[in-house]
Amino acid sequence: MIPYGRQTISEADIQAVVEVLRSDFLTQGPTIPAFENAVANYCGTQYAFAVNSATSALHIACLALGVGKGDSVWTSPITFVASANCALYCGADVDFVDIDPRTYNLSVEKLTEKLAWAEQIGKLPKVVIPVHLCGQPCDMAGIYALSQRYGFKIIEDASHAIGGKYQNQSIGNCRYSDITVFSFHPVKIITTGEGGMALTNDAALAERLDRLRSHGITRDPAQMTHTPDGPWYYQQLELGFNYRMTDMQAALGLSQMQRLDEFVSKRHALSQRYDALLADQPIITPWQHPDSYSGLHLYVIRLQLDKISKTHREVFEALRVAGIGVNLHYIPVYRQPYYEQLGFKEGYCLEAERYYTETISLPMYPELTEAQQDYVVAKLEEALAR
Ligand SMILES: *Cc1c(COP(=O)(O)O)cnc(C)c1O
Repeated sequence: MIPYGRQTISEADIQAVVEVLRSDFLTQGPTIPAFENAVANYCGTQYAFAVNSATSALHIACLALGVGKGDSVWTSPITFVASANCALYCGADVDFVDIDPRTYNLSVEKLTEKLAWAEQIGKLPKVVIPVHLCGQPCDMAGIYALSQRYGFKIIEDASHAIGGKYQNQSIGNCRYSDITVFSFHPVKIITTGEGGMALTNDAALAERLDRLRSHGITRDPAQMTHTPDGPWYYQQLELGFNYRMTDMQAALGLSQMQRLDEFVSKRHALSQRYDALLADQPIITPWQHPDSYSGLHLYVIRLQLDKISKTHREVFEALRVAGIGVNLHYIPVYRQPYYEQLGFKEGYCLEAERYYTETISLPMYPELTEAQQDYVVAKLEEALAR
């Protein structure tokens, strides 16, 4: 089976992990800050905190921004459930803003309309979580301008997007957001097995992210309510979690960082090759906004169903039968039974629902060979033929 995504692991990656295993610290050691510094320097961000998943990073990002009961958090319906669940963990409400028909990211036009309406009924969001779908950055300048007008905070869910650029600057620099979150799951751009990171330029948010990932505990006397009782002393200041990453994971991440640009450019080469090979097919290949250099986590095609005789499902199944691990990113989050039980109904975001009925994610990862890619293209052509 050719998967839709997979990790690239080198001998150097393996050696880096083994070295940590032979060292004094398997967790809370020096490899964590080394990895955090590497990512912060790469992105041009002040602070970075490694955690055990992007889901955890999204959770503590919401908490650090004060999300709680009675608050509302808005995100895109075309994302992994974690982008929405983080708000529910905090006791807040979630709402969804429909997608842009070209980028498939949260539509700034729809966001503008929804904010005007929310202001009238007194239900403005506390936080908006734009998701850089497939690695293509959202219209962050537009969303930032709206945040200034309506007073909401921004968490970028950049789980797909490390290594990408927006307006020629690294995604993750938080120029247009309060916090950015990355995922290091094996299908993503770089991996630590499980893992994530939260980045910010705000010192107060940094302090909270750091505490919340480790039980709400501080060892910094400057943060304590009184002078330390002694050298052993620490204080729990709030209710945090054990969301820490291990040093073995950080060693893998640090080693992978050295090849991040290479991974992304390999993805671009594959994407350009798909674009050329699929140009005459009854599908829409990924449209790229001129302001963006995508991380290209995913290569999503959209079927022109009026030009083919098979259904979306038939094309998808034909590819699976051919041993191609195509996937669909994503089912609109609010169509999940859990969200329907919260009151969301079919028809809530029409553009997202149409996207769901027409798209397929083709295999996209640095080690996908041209021969494998040719096979995917041939099988797709076969499936689309009248
Ligand atoms: C993968 C992913 C997450 C969750 O990442 P984990 O590290 O697996 O917790 C969140 N949001 C998006 C958009 C993702 O793709």
